[in-house]
Amino acid sequence: MTDTKTAPEVAGAAAITPVISHWIEGRPVEVLPEQTGPVYDPASGQVIARVPRGGADEVDRAVAVAAEAFPAWRDMPLIARSHIFFNFRELLYRNREEMARLITQNHGKTFPDALAEVMRGLETVEFACGLPSQLAGMNTPNVSTGVDAFTLRQPLGVTAAITPFNFPAMVPMWIYPIALAAGNTMVWKPSSHTCGAAQLQAELWTEAGLPDGVFNVVYGGREAVTAIVEHPDIKAIQFVGSTKVGTYVYQEGVKRGKRVGSYTSAKNAMLVLPDADMEQTADAAVASGFGSAGERCMAQTLVIAVGDAGAKLRPLMEERVGRLKIGPGMDEGVDMGPIYSAEHRASVIEWIDKGEAEGAELVADGRPFTCEDSPDGFFLGVTLFDNVTPDMEIYREEIFGPVLGIVHADTFDEGLRMINEHQYANGTAIFTTDGGAARRFKMEVEVPMIGVNVPIPVPAGYMSFTGSKASALGDLAMRGEDGIRFFTQQKMVTER
Ligand code: NAD
Repeated sequence: MTDTKTAPEVAGAAAITPVISHWIEGRPVEVLPEQTGPVYDPASGQVIARVPRGGADEVDRAVAVAAEAFPAWRDMPLIARSHIFFNFRELLYRNREEMARLITQNHGKTFPDALAEVMRGLETVEFACGLPSQLAGMNTPNVSTGVDAFTLRQPLGVTAAITPFNFPAMVPMWIYPIALAAGNTMVWKPSSHTCGAAQLQAELWTEAGLPDGVFNVVYGGREAVTAIVEHPDIKAIQFVGSTKVGTYVYQEGVKRGKRVGSYTSAKNAMLVLPDADMEQTADAAVASGFGSAGERCMAQTLVIAVGDAGAKLRPLMEERVGRLKIGPGMDEGVDMGPIYSAEHRASVIEWIDKGEAEGAELVADGRPFTCEDSPDGFFLGVTLFDNVTPDMEIYREEIFGPVLGIVHADTFDEGLRMINEHQYANGTAIFTTDGGAARRFKMEVEVPMIGVNVPIPVPAGYMSFTGSKASALGDLAMRGEDGIRFFTQQKMVTER
């Protein structure tokens, strides 16, 4: 990134080179140019930085310093640990616009969307600031004559986070604040596509006074992930990304005795009943399906319309789709930025081709779109299909792009059954004015994060975030109470 703080700059030198660095023991690690790969600005299609391709050596080094830093961090009085979190919270808030700018530059999402992402991550940092009370155990005096029982929550040691490209600040901030607050040390492997925000987060932790070695960042792909999964000194891993990679991380990690949580791919559907407020529902469907170019695991990418809801909703959605402004994410008034990479753009186009070949009705076609101001950017228009059916691949599989499908169901029960029979179970929503129908939906839908007239029901940062079926592996959710349980070992003491 041409204007990101770089290794020499952080070290105090004047030169600025657009090279992102691994961050080990509280400082950047110099890398040779041949050990790096390109980072693109998807809005311009230009290479704007280089990012290192780390592997087993870098992971070994990061784990070694994290292991060394662990005892002192574990034993630091909670209030002192908490002060560092308050410092980080302040620095993050002060640098929120810079963080958002880096996200937009690497990912392509609009600046207001990127800023909202930073603020959602901040919520979990604030939850972690209250760590002295979050870590309290249970105490039961007098379980027998002169005998008391209590529980302790203790950190595990070196832990790891492996995160996706699409939320380079929010998703890691759902993981590492909890791990660190609980007294663990951390090796984080972000997505190389969106490394600018990762670099800034590492710098802010050092500035906040976090002891060296507690928080380390290693960039890389398969080799770095394999090294994390196989490293004997890493006790726990939280992974967020695709089901394919998440299943590998979960199975290989668990086989080696690690605690692993994998939060993975999704295909979310919103159920629209004929009594819904259709204007509000159309706004919600279009914002949810096309916001962030559909590259959100909680986007609703299927709209299941019951009875005549589809006939009412479709023209309202078409009208809104026609008004969407697509362009560089830093431009004012833009609703949707580019796709994050050229390869992914090609993959989304293949999915649109497939949807057409499968017989879905193409209402709006995003393929011919070009951005006049930025012809080399990875832009794609929005695609709306109608008459999508459960036998189609575009119904069953995650596309992770600006492609929304309308599906028709005759009854509430049929729509509910479609959602419950889908392989993925991440988020869902119902749009209705009938409180009874909404209650039945909440009780009977087999998807854990539910919106009632809310299209993207991401729980607040101090609550847990989860998934089931092919959308999550592991027994505990991320963040909140489950996050504390995941990152601590409980001990039960019986004392005479
Ligand atoms: P991805 O699975 O390609 O990458 C995730 C991480 O794994 C990255 O750090 C990446 O560098 C690494 N990785 C990629 N390929 C690998 C391989 N072959 N071997 C080992 N490691 C590898 O996912 P992505 O494309 O970065 O992110 C999009 C996916 O993430 C979507 O499926 C989306 O639904 C999912 N996601 C899920 C949640 C959730 O909470 N459930 C949140 C955000 C994104």
